[in-house]
Amino acid sequence: MPENTAAGPLAVVGAGVMGTAIAALAIGHGYPVRLIDSAPDARSAAPGRVELHLRTARMLGTLPDGRPAGELTTAATADAAAGTTAVIEAVTEDPEEKAAVLAQLAAVVPAGTLLVSNTSGVPIGELSLAVPHPEDLVGVHFMNPAYLIRTVEVILGPRSADAAAVAVRTLLAGLGREGIVVGDGPGFVTSRLLHRMLNDAIEVVHEDRATPGTVDALMRDCLGHRTGPLATADLIGLDNLADSLRVLHDKTGDAAFRPSELLLDKVRRGELGRKSGRGFYDYEETMR
Ligand code: NAD
Repeated sequence: MPENTAAGPLAVVGAGVMGTAIAALAIGHGYPVRLIDSAPDARSAAPGRVELHLRTARMLGTLPDGRPAGELTTAATADAAAGTTAVIEAVTEDPEEKAAVLAQLAAVVPAGTLLVSNTSGVPIGELSLAVPHPEDLVGVHFMNPAYLIRTVEVILGPRSADAAAVAVRTLLAGLGREGIVVGDGPGFVTSRLLHRMLNDAIEVVHEDRATPGTVDALMRDCLGHRTGPLATADLIGLDNLADSLRVLHDKTGDAAFRPSELLLDKVRRGELGRKSGRGFYDYEETMR
């Protein structure tokens, strides 16, 4: 097996929308997972959220049959990543926070351990400046929900080593995912294209040109978008969408990425989409 190959316990850092779903995906494929979050509320909610994702994934038939689930443990600090074979960072989309977390993680795992960032758009080359072994860092943009969508965007940064590219392929094969490799840069491919469209769809609602339901119906029924942009924004989480747009705006200067005032208003009101029960639509507890 090549050095850097992930085969054993995984650390997932950030127990939010993505971290809990990635943990469920990994557990369902038999990996023990240490799920790390600095927020006590996120830690206490995590086992229930992971269990709900697992049940949904099993119901949808997206996990391997008959494979015993890996064990889930939760922890508050990066120390818990010691002894893991790969680390997946899925904390809030804030470049400085991510850099700090990656530096803490790199300090507890040996050189040659695969470090993955699930950032939506911070360039991997930029994040690699925070770690002592930048060759170990790659980007994997898992899609939401991570246990349902098989294809992921893989970003090899300017300093990612061939060994890390091999290790990430092995990890993704172990998780039943197919990676499509793209070049580094703000928003990579998917967020660069999608987030601009989501922001614009929110502006259409802000201008009172159409309701969220009308925009989504047009995008779904005329243009073949699976759910419609406003439903997608609610699924992503409006706080994360605003953060990701800010990153894209800061790093490209492109005004199309300046978060819509309506989006920012919703975040200020705590209307964060599915995860808070209300965004552009309302959600029952069981739908979150
Ligand atoms: P989220 O807000 O739901 O969860 C983020 C979690 O990170 C929170 O529980 C928070 O407590 C934790 N956290 C923040 N700082 C931390 C630290 N220093 N140490 C440990 N934990 C910390 O966010 P999310 O939607 O899960 O997004 C996570 C990452 O995945 C972001 O980079 C986001 O852009 C990316 N992403 C999100 C989606 C999506 O659809 N939501 C899709 C693909 C990628």
